[in-house]
Amino acid sequence: MSDCIFCRIATGEIPSRKIYEDDHVLAFHDIHPVAPVHFLVIPKLHIPSMAELLPEHVEVMGRVMTTAGRLAHETGCTDGFRTIVNTGRVGRQEVYHLHVHVLGGPEVLPAML
Ligand code: 5GP
Repeated sequence: MSDCIFCRIATGEIPSRKIYEDDHVLAFHDIHPVAPVHFLVIPKLHIPSMAELLPEHVEVMGRVMTTAGRLAHETGCTDGFRTIVNTGRVGRQEVYHLHVHVLGGPEVLPAML
């Protein structure tokens, strides 16, 4: 998906502040952080959103979620963090390559719900 910005970040065509990378998963800092810690974890495979997840994506999404939790701890979120997956128009998704936001820092985050 050459027109997908996160695919282009995954290939290195567009630079990012990478936190972690393996064959299946990439984590990088959000360009517009809204918390002291704010990074994104993506599957390298182009999946547009959570609405398009299929049974064949179970393994890679397990990798995405376990990576998010491990990196949250490694980036200092030792007392908790928030994960967000925006999906589609109603979910205000901006980039149509599935990504998990990880938000945290030393202070309790503002209430959302
Ligand atoms: P969402 O699609 O969940 O609404 O949010 C997309 C997120 O991607 C936003 O928080 C935005 O700041 C981030 N983002 C958009 N373009 C780039 C980019 O080119 N590089 C990085 N590092 N983050 C981006």
